Amino acid sequence: MKIVLASRNRHKIGELEALLSKYLEDVSVLSLDDVGIYGDIEENGTTFEENAFIKARAAAKSGYISIGDDSGLSVRALGGAPGIYSARFAGEHGNDAANNAKLLSELEGKSDRYGEFVCAIACVMPSGEEFCVRGTAAGEILHTPDGNGGFGYDPLFYSLEAKKSFAALTAEEKNAVSHRGKAIELFAKKLKELISESEK
Ligand code: IMP
Repeated sequence: MKIVLASRNRHKIGELEALLSKYLEDVSVLSLDDVGIYGDIEENGTTFEENAFIKARAAAKSGYISIGDDSGLSVRALGGAPGIYSARFAGEHGNDAANNAKLLSELEGKSDRYGEFVCAIACVMPSGEEFCVRGTAAGEILHTPDGNGGFGYDPLFYSLEAKKSFAALTAEEKNAVSHRGKAIELFAKKLKELISESEK
C-alpha cells in the first residue's frame, strides 16, 4: 500500500513508514517530491485539523491515499498557546531555544503548568472520502530543561504518562506515549477499517 505524506522531510517519511509498519502490512510512504508535487503549501488554517487537511488535500492530487499532519503544544494557562504557532512562537521558525525561553517567561508566576501536545492527522482517500484523527499527550511544563534527546519543547515537557520529560525518553519510549505515536495508531486503525469495509 502506498501512502503519500504531505512533507519533503525524509526523516519524517522514514519515521512514519516504520511506525505504520507496526499496524499495516507492506506499507510504503512517499514524499511530495516522490509524486511530483512541488511548491509551498500555504498552511493558513486556524486549528491543527484545518492545517492537516490543507496538507492532505494538496497531497491528494497524487491520486494515492494522502495524509497531512500538524502538531504543537497547547498550554492551558496560556489559553492554548503556542498551539498551531508552536514552531514560530518566538518569531523565527524552528528556533527551539528561543521558543523554550519564551514559554518559560510566559509561564513565570503561573501555578497552572498543565499542557498537552497535540497531533492531528488528516487523510484523503482516492475515493475522495476524508477523515481526521487526533492524538494527545498530557504533561506539565517544567521550570528548567531536563534530558538530552528529542527536539522542540521536549526538554520542558514532563509527560504525566511516562513520568519523565520527553527529552529523557528513548525514541521508542516517546512513541509509546506521544501525541504523534497515538495519532499514527488511530490513523492506521481507521484506515484498516475503511479498507476492509470497501472490500466487503
Ligand atoms: P510539526 O507540525 O510536527 O512540524 O510541529 C510543529 C512544532 O510543534 C515543532 O516545531 C515543535 O516546536 C512543536 N512540536 C510538535 N511535536 C513536538 C514534539 O514531539 N516534541 C517537541 N516539540 C514538538
